[in-house]
Amino acid sequence: MLSAIARAEAVRVRDCAAADLDLLLADVATWVDVDTPGGEHEALDALARVLALVSKRYGLEPELIETPGGLALHATLRGAGRARVALLGHHDTVFPLGTAAERPFRRDAERCYGPGVADMKGGVAVALHTARLLAEGPRPFAVLEVVSVPDEESRDGGPPSGGRLLDMDAVFCLECGRPNGEVVSRRKGARWFRIHAKGRAAHAGEAPDDGRNAALALAREALRIGELHGARPDLTLQVTGLAAGESLNTVPSSGSLAADLRTWSEADLEWALEQALRFGEHDGVELSYEDLGGPPPFERTPGVAALAEAAIELGGELGHVFGETAAGGVSDGSWTAAKGIPTLDGLGPVGGEDHTPWEYVETASFAPRCGVVAGLVAAIDAGLLEEVG
Ligand SMILES: [Zn+2]
Repeated sequence: MLSAIARAEAVRVRDCAAADLDLLLADVATWVDVDTPGGEHEALDALARVLALVSKRYGLEPELIETPGGLALHATLRGAGRARVALLGHHDTVFPLGTAAERPFRRDAERCYGPGVADMKGGVAVALHTARLLAEGPRPFAVLEVVSVPDEESRDGGPPSGGRLLDMDAVFCLECGRPNGEVVSRRKGARWFRIHAKGRAAHAGEAPDDGRNAALALAREALRIGELHGARPDLTLQVTGLAAGESLNTVPSSGSLAADLRTWSEADLEWALEQALRFGEHDGVELSYEDLGGPPPFERTPGVAALAEAAIELGGELGHVFGETAAGGVSDGSWTAAKGIPTLDGLGPVGGEDHTPWEYVETASFAPRCGVVAGLVAAIDAGLLEEVG
């Protein structure tokens, strides 16, 4: 199935990355040792400029794009083939300023540690070093674009500069691989919403029947909506908030209910939402819906499946054995996948304990991950995704 060039590039890039591992790890150490919490524009932009300089040194053409969360790096490498592929990452972390001073980058015999080493400065290193090494070979792609955004951890919607990726054949997201190496080929989508109820206040003792009880209407709706939990396989729907009432002796005139809905597919998401909004009659209490957004499902389409299977096969070629899995959390890969761009996630170094002081990556996984990503780029150039249409 895999083309000869894909296998050859995977091996070549893996071998070169292993030979130059100190260079890659020096980059990771430099980036981990500067804190870049979401919202700290000065720190984020400083690191984006460093990443731009490094990508230029590695043969890419960097562009820094202003976005509300800070500068986004889009660094391009042009090749001799036809594939258009993006390597997607982020350089913000969840750790406040001062964290790196307390526990800077360090490595022991097997692992590297430090704030953001897995989520996901290690992944940005895999992206940039894969590009650096692909630049030294036959360049089996038309465009390879390394992207690092400044606000993945803190943003509600998709990446503001993500529109530039719409004409890509595939997007590889470099969040770290799961602890046993698995890549991520599916993520649930979520929708958060509120139901607002508007009734009429009245004195609860003097004129109760003049009132229209918003609390009771919401309570009935909460029970009905809660029944949708599990109505389809793996569909979860939890009522996460319920509030109404102005005083002990007043018929409640208003209130609201909050809910968290999650599914594997857009079809299930739409279905459940439609069911949730089939309000009952509540004798003069009006209900309205407020959409609070949420990430779309990252579905395992035939294109995604082809990428996952090719990645696993390439891993096997390199003696780096792993499988694929579904993940609960969201990444920027969710947004590109929802746009219909074949996307594969978890291609960064193997690691775990994200968002904790114990966050780590396996040092020996950097080079084979570079090889897998390089092989995937070459496989797409050789027509991997044409078979699935
Ligand atoms: Zn991340």
